[in-house]
Amino acid sequence: MIIENLAEFASKKFGQNFLKSDYYLQQIIQAMPNDCLRVAEIGPGLGDLTKELVKARNVTAFEVDKRLCEHLTSEFEEPIHNGSFELRCGDVLERWESGSLLDEPYHLVANLPYYIATNIILKAFKDEHCRSVLVMVQKEVAVKFAAEAGEKAFSALSVLASTVGKATLCFEVEREAFVPPPNVTSAVLLIEKNRSFDDEKFEAFLKIAFSQPRKKLSKNLMTAFPKDLVEKTFAELELPSTMRPHEAGTSIYHHLYNELKDNLDGKQQN
Ligand code: SAM
Repeated sequence: MIIENLAEFASKKFGQNFLKSDYYLQQIIQAMPNDCLRVAEIGPGLGDLTKELVKARNVTAFEVDKRLCEHLTSEFEEPIHNGSFELRCGDVLERWESGSLLDEPYHLVANLPYYIATNIILKAFKDEHCRSVLVMVQKEVAVKFAAEAGEKAFSALSVLASTVGKATLCFEVEREAFVPPPNVTSAVLLIEKNRSFDDEKFEAFLKIAFSQPRKKLSKNLMTAFPKDLVEKTFAELELPSTMRPHEAGTSIYHHLYNELKDNLDGKQQN
């Protein structure tokens, strides 16, 4: 398929901003974990990153746009690489509904569509076969995942990332590297997992804890749990009542959750 005008071709609905920079494509390849030979790529688009990946890896790519699926099928018809390429056309989120994305250990690599980036990363945290996540996302999202306790950006996403492993903001990517350029600066985020974690009740608990990020953590929790129970739990864990949500580390959130979770009902989770 010959695309005359890539900016016009790009679908906003599918979050298409194509990375057109050899420099950043190589930077992504270099940021991959060394043992990364089995790859799931979400949103291969025109296949620029895919071509680098298949040089030495086995790639299963998930693409929703039928026009791009046709393009990729002809592009990768001839095995001109050492790795392998398999295309699954359809919405990747629907694939996750029936279990793991792949039925063997894999590494997720993607320049993600920003409208579902956080959702995809959280799905990967739950997927027991996913070993690491190396993704291009909006810079603000990368900062939130990679923040450490005590930093202003420390959020529910940081707690979830450090629950499954270690998140690192690898490098930033300017808007001009894409066609069409997105409205925001991007960044490549690496999350090396040492375990999977799937507890929607804990996610609901974090939503309450960070509901007003600049207010006291205890006050946020009191919007959903009895005041005396929150005070008793803070005293038992020797936590200052003035503590703000970003000041409590990941293990504190797990301790608080264990003490309070029996009081978290279905209504509060919504
Ligand atoms: N990887 C290409 C690149 O770097 O140039 C394209 C990246 S573009 C930001 C996002 C890609 O994700 C597009 O190809 C888009 O069609 C695809 N996409 C969007 N929503 C998707 C979904 N729900 N499932 C699978 N792919 C999706």
